Amino acid sequence: MRIDIITCLPKLLESPFSDSILKRAQDKGLVQVMVHDLRPFSTNKHRTTDDYAFGGGAGMVMMIEPIDRCISSLKEQRSYDEIIYMSPDGELLTQSLANQLSMKKKLILLCGHYKGVDERVREHLITREISIGDYVLSGGELAAAVLSDAIIRLIPGVLSDETSALSDSFQDGLIAPPVYTRPAEYKGWKVPDVLLSGHEAKINEWRHDQALERTKKRRPEQIKN
Ligand code: SAH
Repeated sequence: MRIDIITCLPKLLESPFSDSILKRAQDKGLVQVMVHDLRPFSTNKHRTTDDYAFGGGAGMVMMIEPIDRCISSLKEQRSYDEIIYMSPDGELLTQSLANQLSMKKKLILLCGHYKGVDERVREHLITREISIGDYVLSGGELAAAVLSDAIIRLIPGVLSDETSALSDSFQDGLIAPPVYTRPAEYKGWKVPDVLLSGHEAKINEWRHDQALERTKKRRPEQIKN
């Protein structure tokens, strides 16, 4: 898979991809993440990528031209499955959407800033809009990193067996059961006996019951779905 991220603040995207699972996925050649600075695509003297809003009001708006030039130059080199604008009013990111996108081969993620992008970008240049939650961030970079992480960890070979995504919350409609590690007792707080029993069938049954209980309590709508 290849993910191209377009941003006016490329530095914000340096660390999320340079450590742990996302770094290893790139090192193994399972995903290529390319961050593109919008600034060089600006044609004005100061290489600015934003301007005042028509009609007035507070906040700058990202201009269409640098975004169009950047997306066009990427599309000239390869075709993309989706061109996604990160937006608080977009389709809400869920595990099922992450699953769908993890099967794509080439994605562009466009990060907005300030008041967002000129509406014509949304009307003519992108194919999809995704929000990571009903709250407003100052820019799309952290949202793009969240979306990329949720997708990349699902690509076969990225996670090792012991961190398998299949047993994670939401993957099978259930919240993950509680987990424990050594010591078996800490300050008198004990690990449930069944987990120390070595009885695999009983452990699986306990985990399933716990997952069901947690889901009923914390995310009842998951069961209905
Ligand atoms: N004025 C806009 C918010 C702009 S926030 C509004 O009220 O809807 C600036 C940028 O941050 C957006 O263009 C978007 O790319 C990003 N962003 C903010 N919140 C986000 C969220 N919840 N999910 C995805 N991207 C978000």
